[in-house]
Amino acid sequence: MSQVRTRFAPSPTGYMHIGNLRTCLYEYLIARVSGGTFVLRIEDTDQERFVEGAMDAVFNTLKLTGIGFDEGPGKEGDCGPYIQSQRRDIYKKYAEELVKTGHAYYCFCTKERLESLKGGDENLGAALNYDRHCRYLSEEEIAANLAAGKPYVIRQKMPTEGTTTFIDLVYGDITVDNKTLDDQVLLKSDGLPTYNFANVVDDHLMRITHVVRGNEYLSSTPKYNLLYEAFGWEIPTYIHCPPIMKDQHQKLSKRNGDASFLDLVDKGYLVEAILNYIALLGWSPRGNQEFFTLKELESEFSLEGLSKSPAIFDIEKLKWMNGEYIRRMSPEEFLGKAGRWLREGLGEKLYADASVTAKVAALVQQRTVILSDIPGRIGFLRELPEYDTEIYCHKKMKTDREISLKALRLCGPYLESWRGPWTSQDIYAALCDFAAANEMKNSQLLWPLRTALSGMEVSPGGATELMELLGREETLARIGKGAELLASVLEG
Ligand code: GLU
Repeated sequence: MSQVRTRFAPSPTGYMHIGNLRTCLYEYLIARVSGGTFVLRIEDTDQERFVEGAMDAVFNTLKLTGIGFDEGPGKEGDCGPYIQSQRRDIYKKYAEELVKTGHAYYCFCTKERLESLKGGDENLGAALNYDRHCRYLSEEEIAANLAAGKPYVIRQKMPTEGTTTFIDLVYGDITVDNKTLDDQVLLKSDGLPTYNFANVVDDHLMRITHVVRGNEYLSSTPKYNLLYEAFGWEIPTYIHCPPIMKDQHQKLSKRNGDASFLDLVDKGYLVEAILNYIALLGWSPRGNQEFFTLKELESEFSLEGLSKSPAIFDIEKLKWMNGEYIRRMSPEEFLGKAGRWLREGLGEKLYADASVTAKVAALVQQRTVILSDIPGRIGFLRELPEYDTEIYCHKKMKTDREISLKALRLCGPYLESWRGPWTSQDIYAALCDFAAANEMKNSQLLWPLRTALSGMEVSPGGATELMELLGREETLARIGKGAELLASVLEG
């Protein structure tokens, strides 16, 4: 068998959504497992749908994920250029070749005429959009139209009888009646090819052996096969992937603004976790392993594991996986990945204190599910939020507002005069002794302190860990504020 060559062929018509990334990943992995070549081709012939910045999103995504292409824009191999708008002449030549061999024809129909066909013609097959008017023009008529400079498109001449069968690796054999196939446009009047034509020509010229794409292309594939046959070219292996669903009924789709890869990264999902999760949306590994690095996938991926049932993009499952990835990181790695979020939560000044940042990171790592949760959980360190004194009342801790006020009034002056080293451990030991001396439970001192220091119902770290982070001065100030607040509620 010839050397495996796969391609990712995005159209720059929007951001890179999860479905695109899955196609890309599978193409890449098929190439890697077999020591083949992975090509990136930009399909930008639909100029009307071109979206500024979409190309950058493709390149950024590939860069971030580590999915490296072997040939493509900026990495020329022997099949370039890899941007379709730069290949215009190639398509024209091949389309004309099909006209010569009788597999395609010039169509001079005006927009208005085509428009008028839309109402539906009883004589047309139900699925056909075009009545094939120009298919039956005489040689003379064609020559006269061309000589008069009439604009034209080139259409594929579909067989009117028989069937076309193609084999899909996921869906099996698919057969269609040729009479249901429209004489589709191959070359538009602006001289640019349609996607339907360009992908066949390019897949052939780029020696692509495996075509992976969404199953929305299944219905067009017989037309592609007829093109391959008309040219006498070898047909690639087709791998159509089932859709990725949002729920039981709705597809994830670019148009609905569903999960774009870069948005997920921006929301604090880890690239590694997203890739891992996406790999499993439509592919099952041989064993029970669930966590895969890209490197591992490069040897584990198998065509046999591809599934034809639609996969549901379950954000909860992705969150779970993301949390697992976070827990498995070394502290240094976490610090690196969470940097942006720690900085947002702590503010420049605190973040610049490397020891504070490292301690905060250690406190939040185990409980973080997505990185964007971090700022909200640690922002209180930068600035004490406004809070309701209700949060001082905690049954299990045996505290209420009165006890809390007492605790804060006792602890403030005590800590002010306490001269031990300002570390969580030392303060903790001192406070336990102090609680006993005052015939209070530890929790009756520590809970009010934790609450006064954080202004939050839950905080990463207990009272003394927060004290160490905040430093003596800020700790004392917050205890004072807490007492004041409680007093104003209790004593008016
Ligand atoms: N340009 C097409 C798209 O973005 C690619 C389809 C294919 O892979 O053949 O949907």
